[in-house]
Amino acid sequence: MRKKIVAGNWKMNNDSQQTQALLSDILNKRPQDTATKIVVAPTFVNLQSAVIQTKGSNVIVAAQNMHQAESGAFTGEISVGMLKGIDVNTVILGHSERRAYFGETNSILAEKVNTALKHNLTIIFCFGEELADRQSGNHFNVVESQLREGLFHIGESQWTNVVLAYEPVWAIGTGETASPEQAQEMHNFIRTLIKENVSADVSEHTSILYGGSVKPDNAQEIFSKPDVDGGLIGGAALKADDFLAIVNAI
Ligand code: PEP
Repeated sequence: MRKKIVAGNWKMNNDSQQTQALLSDILNKRPQDTATKIVVAPTFVNLQSAVIQTKGSNVIVAAQNMHQAESGAFTGEISVGMLKGIDVNTVILGHSERRAYFGETNSILAEKVNTALKHNLTIIFCFGEELADRQSGNHFNVVESQLREGLFHIGESQWTNVVLAYEPVWAIGTGETASPEQAQEMHNFIRTLIKENVSADVSEHTSILYGGSVKPDNAQEIFSKPDVDGGLIGGAALKADDFLAIVNAI
């Protein structure tokens, strides 16, 4: 059985009061007996308070990013040790906004992956094609390169700390969702790649989330596909009721 996961990426939204209020709404209304892992990713400045607020609950707090170096002269950056020091043990890497606006290449991401896994963090590794890639039929090649260059170098035993998030860029924040069939087709392709390049066991046990305009009204259909193990949610994660409706759709 693969883990089912719904993760909310709050991006650069919510000051500390808003973060606290949203989290307390989620904590009050969340299903407590669910096997689904519930993850929230506030901004760096709100991580520590979120960790304290969620202590003893089934809500996991993740960072949205981290630097690949362990420490040093990298003004404005956050290291893996700083995350671990406040009990943040999960990090999102390679979100399309990091790739597009902050120059995160596959090779930088490979370094981030190494640093995070070396320190035993769980990574939610994001990747996905742009609209032009999909329109030209190049989407499978793009996804394969992102995985080969950013992730497939890790050892087989390290995959226990890896969650994948397939996020077609054309579906992020656009209201345009990949159809459940398109999501399933790509997730199945990814699972086959893992089987061929890592192992059948890792392929069977790695959770692959879908991200891109998942909302309460489309979540159930997307999550019903056999290779979709949950979602990475942006806009709809900013309202507790919407986010939890998506959690409950699994
Ligand atoms: C995201 O940013 O990872 C995302 C999936 O956003 P949205 O749900 O708003 O499309």
